[in-house]
Amino acid sequence: MECPEVAERLWEYLDDELAAKEAAALAFHLEGCGHCRPHYRCDRAFLVLVVRSLRAPCPAPARLRMVVRARLDELRAGR
Ligand SMILES: [Zn+2]
Repeated sequence: MECPEVAERLWEYLDDELAAKEAAALAFHLEGCGHCRPHYRCDRAFLVLVVRSLRAPCPAPARLRMVVRARLDELRAGR
């Protein structure tokens, strides 16, 4: 596998979407190529950040929480 193909398929590799044989060829290329490896590390770091941000809790605004809590209290009180 050559550099342009690696660049083109890097995201498929990172997303684990390549066939085992292609993934192995790409990994082999990354091991020996000082040009592609930094791209791989950068893209992988970006992917890790995206995954982390998706897993992080996304707190609701305080006002919304208050409204929901008040409505739940009303429902509990049978109003
Ligand atoms: Zn390369």
